[in-house]
Formats: sequence, C-alpha cells, structure tokens
Amino acid sequence: MRILLAAVLFVFITALVVCMILSLRSKKSIGRYVACLISGVIPPIVGNLILMLSTNHTISMLGFYIYFLGMDATVYSLLRFSYAYCEIKPPKWLKRIPDILIISDVFLYALNPILHVSFSAKKIMVDAHAYYKLVPYAGQTYHRVIAYGIFLAVVIVFLTKAIKTPKIYSEKYWVILFSSVVAGALETYYIFSKITLDISMLAFGIFGILVYYFALHYRPMKLLDKMLSGIASDMPDALYFFDTSGKCIWMNEPGRLLIGTLPNDYDGVRDNLTFLFGNIDFESGGWSKKQTLGTGDEAQYTNLLMRTLTDDDGKATGTYLSIRDVTDEQNEMKREMYNSTHDSLTGFYTKEYLYEAIEKRLRSDTDTDYMIGYMEISNFKVINDVFGKRFGELTIKKAAEFIMEGVSSKCLYGRLSEDAFGILIDKEDFNSKPVDEKISGFTVSDKDLEHHVLIHYGIYDITEGEEIDVPLFFDSARLATAKIADSYQTLIVYYDDKIRNEIIHEQLISNQLHEAIETNQIRPFLQPIVDGKGILVGAEALVRWVHPDDGLKPPGTFIPIFERNGLIALVDKHMWKCACDILSNWKERGIEQFISINISPKDFYFMDVVSELKKIVEESGIDPVKLRVEITESVMMTDAIDIVKIIGDLREYGFIVEMDDFGSGYSSLNMLKDIPVDVLKIDMQFLRDSERNLKAGYIIKNIIRMSEDLGIDTLTEGVETAAQFERLFDMGCKLYQGYYFSKPLPVDEFEKQWFD
Ligand code: C2E
Ligand code: CA
Ligand code: CA
Repeated sequence: MRILLAAVLFVFITALVVCMILSLRSKKSIGRYVACLISGVIPPIVGNLILMLSTNHTISMLGFYIYFLGMDATVYSLLRFSYAYCEIKPPKWLKRIPDILIISDVFLYALNPILHVSFSAKKIMVDAHAYYKLVPYAGQTYHRVIAYGIFLAVVIVFLTKAIKTPKIYSEKYWVILFSSVVAGALETYYIFSKITLDISMLAFGIFGILVYYFALHYRPMKLLDKMLSGIASDMPDALYFFDTSGKCIWMNEPGRLLIGTLPNDYDGVRDNLTFLFGNIDFESGGWSKKQTLGTGDEAQYTNLLMRTLTDDDGKATGTYLSIRDVTDEQNEMKREMYNSTHDSLTGFYTKEYLYEAIEKRLRSDTDTDYMIGYMEISNFKVINDVFGKRFGELTIKKAAEFIMEGVSSKCLYGRLSEDAFGILIDKEDFNSKPVDEKISGFTVSDKDLEHHVLIHYGIYDITEGEEIDVPLFFDSARLATAKIADSYQTLIVYYDDKIRNEIIHEQLISNQLHEAIETNQIRPFLQPIVDGKGILVGAEALVRWVHPDDGLKPPGTFIPIFERNGLIALVDKHMWKCACDILSNWKERGIEQFISINISPKDFYFMDVVSELKKIVEESGIDPVKLRVEITESVMMTDAIDIVKIIGDLREYGFIVEMDDFGSGYSSLNMLKDIPVDVLKIDMQFLRDSERNLKAGYIIKNIIRMSEDLGIDTLTEGVETAAQFERLFDMGCKLYQGYYFSKPLPVDEFEKQWFD
C-alpha cells in the first residue's frame, strides 16, 4: 500500500513539474500564477513522499519541514492565484496580512530545531515498518490556524466570484472551488483522523492539474456553442446549415420565415429554396450571387452566399447558405442615386447629371442636330426678396413646367443653378418665334399676386464635327444670355461671332488691367458736388481708363466686365488710394473739401472692404471724414453680406457713408430706418422722371422730407439744368451734382477750375 501510494505520488509530482514548466511558458498572464501555485503544491507532496519512505528520524524531520513549509507556500500562492484568476484587487494593507503571517510561521519553523516550539517526530511501527509520526506543539497549531485562515479567504474569494458571475461563465470558478475544498477537506480528515498515510496528497496533485487545465486550457465550449447559435438565431439574414450529404440540419427563424415552413421541419428546405430562387448549387460552397424576387415596387433584392465549413484538419463538415434581404439598402441606394442626380424642387436632372447625359447623347446620336439652351430667370433674387421664398419656389416650378411642356421627346433638360435651366434642344423641333412669344408672356400667379417674370434664353448652336465640351457649350449660351440680361425686348439670343468677339475683348482688357493700374492709365476724374449756393463742398471720384489705343474709356465699358471676373477689387483699391493721395495733397494745401469714392457691390465678395479702406486711409494720414464712401442701394438688399455691420464699422471709424443710386432699385424709405447712412444720393433717373411725371416729383419731395426727419442729408445727382436745380432747392435738397455744375474732370483741370 505504502509503495503503491508512493509510486502514485511520484507520478503526480512528475506531472505537476511538467504542468509547471508549461505554465511558465504560457503566453497568458495567469501562467506565472499557475506556475507559482503548482510549485507550491509540489513540496507538500514531496515531503509526504519522504515521510512515507523514510525510516530515519532526521530524514523524517526533513520530510516534515518540506511538508509544512510547502503547505505555507501552497496556501500563499493559492491566495495570489485566486486574486488573479477571479480578477479582484484587494487593498494593499489586506495583501500584507498573509505576508506577515506566513513570514512569522516560517520564522517559528526556523526556531524549531533549537526551541522545539512547533513539532517533533516519534517513531511508531506500522505493518512492521518503522514510521515517524508527528508530535505537534503550540507552533504547529499556529501554523494550522494560518493555513486554514488563508484557505478560508481563498474559498470566500472563489465563492463570491462564482455566485456573482452569470451561470454560463461561472463553471471555471466552481470547479476550482470544489477541488480545492475537497483537497482541504481530505487534508483536515488526515490531520484529525490520525491515520498515518496522507491520502489528501492525491487530491493536492489532482487539484494542481485541474488548476493548470482550467486556468490555461479551458474553453467554455458550452458557452461558445450557446453564443454562436444565439448569434446565428438573432441574425437578420436567413441561414441554413447542411451536412456533408447536403441535408438541411438547421435554419434560423428568418430562414424559416423566408421559405415559410414549420419550425424544425428541415426536409422541405431544399425544395422550398429551389422553388423560390430557382436552381441552387447545394453541393459546392464558395459561391455568391445577387437575385431579385418579384418585380416593380414589390421587388425583393437578395444576396445569396454559400460557404463550406471545415474542421481543424480542413475536412469539410458541411455547408451553410446565407440569404440577405438587401431591398432596403437597394431602395435607399436608388433613392440616393435619384436625389444626387435630380433637383428636389423640380425633379429635374442636376447640372452634373445633365452634363453627363448630354455628353452621352451627343456622342451616341450623331445624326440629330442639337443646340444647347440656357434659360435664366432674370432678377430671381429680387423676386425672392420682394415676394417671398414661396413665390420664388413657385416661379422655379412654373418655369420647369414651362420647359417640360415646350420640349420635344428628344430633349434633355435639367436645373443648372438657383435661377437657370439647361436644355439640349433638337434643332429641327425648335422654332424661336413661338418660344419667344411664350416667354414674353410668362407670368406667375399665386392667389391674388401676379407677377410677370422676365426670362432670357441663350442658345449655343453646336456645329457639326465640333469637339464635344458640354460645360463650354453651356458657358457660351450663358455668356450670350448675359449680353441681354437687362433687356425686356430681346429674350432669346444666339451665341455668335459678335458675342465671341466681345468675350475675347473682355479677356483682352482683363489681361491689360495690371499694367493699366501700374502705369496710371486707370485714374480718377473728379466731379464737383456743391451746396444750395453753388459753393463747392467736395467731389466724386469717377474712374476713367485712359487707354493707349482706345482713348478715354468710361467706366461703363469695363466696370461690368471686372465685376463679373472679380478684378473690380483691384480697380477700386487703386481708386481709393488715388483719392486718398489727392486728399493728402489737399490737406497740405489747406483745402477742406471731401472726396466720395465708389464701392462696387462685388467688392464685398472679393475683399474685406472695411479693413482695406482703413489701411489705405492710415497709410495716407488723412482724416477719414474727408473720404466719403458710396455704397449702392442694391447692396442693401443682398442677404449674403451683413451690410448693417459693415456700414456701422465704417461710420465708427469716421467715414461718412452715402447710399448711392437711391430710388433706382426697389428699396423703400422704410429700409433707411434699419440702415444707418449719413447721405442719400438720389438717382438721376428718378429726377428725369420727375420732369415728366408730377407724381415722381412728389415722391422726391417726400424722400427729402423724410430723410430730414431721419437726420440724413440728401444729394441729388444728375442735375443738368438750372430749372432742375431750382426745383430741388425748393424741395429742400442739400447737395447737388451734375453736368449743370460740371462734368467729371481730370484732377488738374478740376483743381484749376475750382481752386484757382
Ligand atoms: P454713379 O456712381 O452713379 O456715378 C454717377 C454717374 O453719372 C457718372 O457716370 C457721372 O459721370 C454721371 N453723371 C454725373 N452728372 C450727370 C448728369 O448731369 N447727367 C448725366 N447723364 N450723367 C451724369 P460715370 O462716370 O460714367 O460712372 C458710371 C458709373 O460707374 C457710376 O455711377 C458708378 O456706378 C460706376 N463707377 C464710376 N467710377 C467707379 C469706381 O471707381 N468704382 C466703381 N466700382 N464704380 C465706379
Ligand atoms: Ca457714385
Ligand atoms: Ca449714383
């Protein structure tokens, strides 16, 4: 019996050593705790083995020491292991207690050979064999208390963890708890039963091996199984599993619903699938296909995927088929596609999509003669501002309807921008006369509001064999339209040589601008501004281009071009600088008069007007009050810039702000309450009307009076006759400007005439 037990213990020791080495090599962080624990478990077993085989007192004493100190190591490393395994972090002070207890116990054992406080050994005879039995003293009781105490702590740790953890995960805690309790119980039995052979050592060995397995190799297969089948069941895709013979062995709920069979009725699965999807290759895995069931709005889009399942050795264990319903995605994609290619308001193609479609058509259909049409709603922003956004949208919709009604089946059309449409016109079908008539009668009405909307139509005739460049075609049609932008008579315009030459001309003078500014070909002329007594109070700086070839160019010949391409900012900055230079020169000569400069509405888009003006004034060292700033009325109506803030900033800095061309647009006096200007420049057009039209004269009178009330000075420009001057004077106008006093003059002439 003794020999057999010894042999078994020896086998355990060997197995534990192997486990310990493997644990050390493990990549898992728990590995070293396992190794420590096993290295703690081995000594008690070795100690017992020695005790079992020894017949000598000294060797037996050695066995006891190994046994007891090993027990200390075992419980201590078990506690550390339990912390790591159960993933708990006790406070530091709590961790210290077992350290102190174990050290004190080791200390007692160290003193035992001299003081005999722990134990000694007594020879007894078992089955005619000499055997040394333990004689415990007080120190040994202390050892047991410590060992049991720590063991109890371990049991508590595992028990709480196992209870707190969800059932499917707690298996690994229960196993270790159970086996450690069994080992502990057997040990207790050995201690108290006084039997000579410590069979609990067998439990120790088993415990060590269990720990090694559960901590390092255990995979909760039941859990994995549950999780995987849970995932498969919860998948929105229909799933079918087939064994190697091709028989269906499982399907999830969506799979069942798709083919409409009873739960667990796997026999008809293949036939049902074949019925729905036609021939399906159940035999080979590794294929996928898209398939549509039904047609039209009812259509159901699916993705089928067949895969082979293999075991670890790569042997096929079956196949599975997944069927995903992608109808929503497909519809969403179609919707997105539609939205990205169609304008939401009109349902028309977007610009990009139209360009693409036209290009395709022009390349594929070379037999038809096509033209490109660019249709623009004039003053659309004004319509929006004055009649409201709703009316603006209605206008766009009506224009879209108008296009749809008028075009032939071969036409393509789309919305190019907020206020413009593009059309590919079949030349044969297009007759400009009726179109012109229809456009000129285009009105939009909403309830009791009716408005005649001005539409311009630019056409680019594509010549045969011309290189296809859709954006360029539209650019040309648009440029042609721009040429008639203000006309109420001409509504349809063809891009022709004249327009082409004009465009070339525009490019030419744009290229010349830089040099023209540097060499002062671009320079201000001054037109006097006088008060009621005809005394000079200031001048307006009006740009002139003294061109080496073309002679004196008035602003009307180049300002609109530079406003279109943004070069206006260069012209205006230059003009402002010139005005400041003149003012600085006047300052030196003691001349008190001011100069008004013009700001183009487009300047606000191309530069920070306020800081630019400040910079120029600072550099020239003049008083900002001498530089008056003219902002046209039309700027006040655009939402894109915060004109109230800009005017506020300008006035705060000391500029006097004038509203230019008042009355030319659709502004109302009402607006003046919100926009804080110092001077109102009444447009000369207004004045001219007033001669013919008494009513207009009455309006001017009122404007002047109301401005007075608001503390705003009025300046009338375009005064040409003494009669006009007198009438305006009677109406209470403060300042005057016009040919009656003087035309705009070159600076030196102006100075000669007014200062000498
Ligand atoms: P505006 O600011 O309304 O300037 C007044 C225009 O009326 C000037 O035309 C002036 O010569 C003209 N004018 C003055 N008195 C009379 C008159 O009694 N009868 C008639 N029929 N016309 C008169 P101009 O110099 O041809 O300038 C035209 C427009 O060009 C200006 O209108 C202004 O909007 C723009 N402009 C002129 N200089 C500049 C500039 O430096 N920058 C910017 N952005 N625009 C400028
Ligand atoms: Ca002006
Ligand atoms: Ca003006």
